Amino acid sequence: MVIVMKKGATPAQVEAVQERLVARGFNVHLSEGINRTILGAVGDRTRVDHTALQAMPGVENVVAIMKPFKMASREFKTDNTLVQVGRATFGDGSVPLIAGPCAIEGREQFIETAVAVAERGALALRGGAFKPRTSPYSFQGLGEEGLKIMAEARDITGLPIVTEVMDQKSVPMVAEYVDMIQIGARNMQNFYLLKEVGKYNKPVLLKRGLSATIEEWLMAAEYILDSGNSQLILCERGIRTFETYTRNTLDLSAIPLVKSLSHLPVIVDPSHGTGKRDLVNPMSLAAVACGCDGIIVEVHTNPAEAWSDGPQSLIPDEFGVLVRQVQAVLQAIHGISGAN
Ligand code: PEP
Ligand code: MN
Repeated sequence: MVIVMKKGATPAQVEAVQERLVARGFNVHLSEGINRTILGAVGDRTRVDHTALQAMPGVENVVAIMKPFKMASREFKTDNTLVQVGRATFGDGSVPLIAGPCAIEGREQFIETAVAVAERGALALRGGAFKPRTSPYSFQGLGEEGLKIMAEARDITGLPIVTEVMDQKSVPMVAEYVDMIQIGARNMQNFYLLKEVGKYNKPVLLKRGLSATIEEWLMAAEYILDSGNSQLILCERGIRTFETYTRNTLDLSAIPLVKSLSHLPVIVDPSHGTGKRDLVNPMSLAAVACGCDGIIVEVHTNPAEAWSDGPQSLIPDEFGVLVRQVQAVLQAIHGISGAN
């Protein structure tokens, strides 16, 4: 539930409400706005008397959140959450692009791609050091060596880096190297992993599970928020359907829908969402028109030789075109509505 304090409520009044809730076993999150303080309380609603709470000094309103996700909901926080990663702001109406190869294959390959996408307008670098492969015989990633290469690419380009972490025990190491931690689609419901990344003061990119409903996805976000980390970005990356021409079906309706249900930024991954290079730019532009807060794409200097996901990887020049087209669509939208 959300407790809205009156304008000018004193710190002692806020504290009294907070104490009562904590005593009843609630987890309380304070949000101090310019005009008023809001308390988000997550716990068993039957353990507190709604009317008594409403009558406490300084309380303006008590609102129950009926949805199963609480802290992720718009009721809990009406303003968009902004997540800052380097110079990229996710959630402010801009569309930062994150780009890089599926996997870090070696120093030369990654740095070359990193420089190429940086020159063409990427605001963050992606690359897999730990790869969740369907086959145990496929390339599994370079591990810590890959993280070191990424860190070097950050030094060279000045761009922040994002990579996937696959298990709890690797979180401290990955968090030390990267600027944003990615939770992959296959791990979206690895609840212990979600709780672990929730303990870090580092942005998290949470991909939608391969067969996850929007509610399941937001409940996964709830785990991270409830563990104390509010720097969270959601990523739509396509879901499994009966269609086989595309690798997944990119659910663009999830963008405006999730943004209406939640204050969290929503970005899109049209590379894994389609599996096809030729579909990446059109789907990206559609995602911008749908109000996405960023795009993450795979780019390889030689897709034919890529160790993974070559067919869906753009070459740097295609990425450069995408950057310009994204700006054009954004301008078209802003020009008409004057709003984000
Ligand atoms: C990735 O981004 O490298 C990746 C494996 O994506 P997903 O988890 O969406 O399949
Ligand atoms: Mn990939």
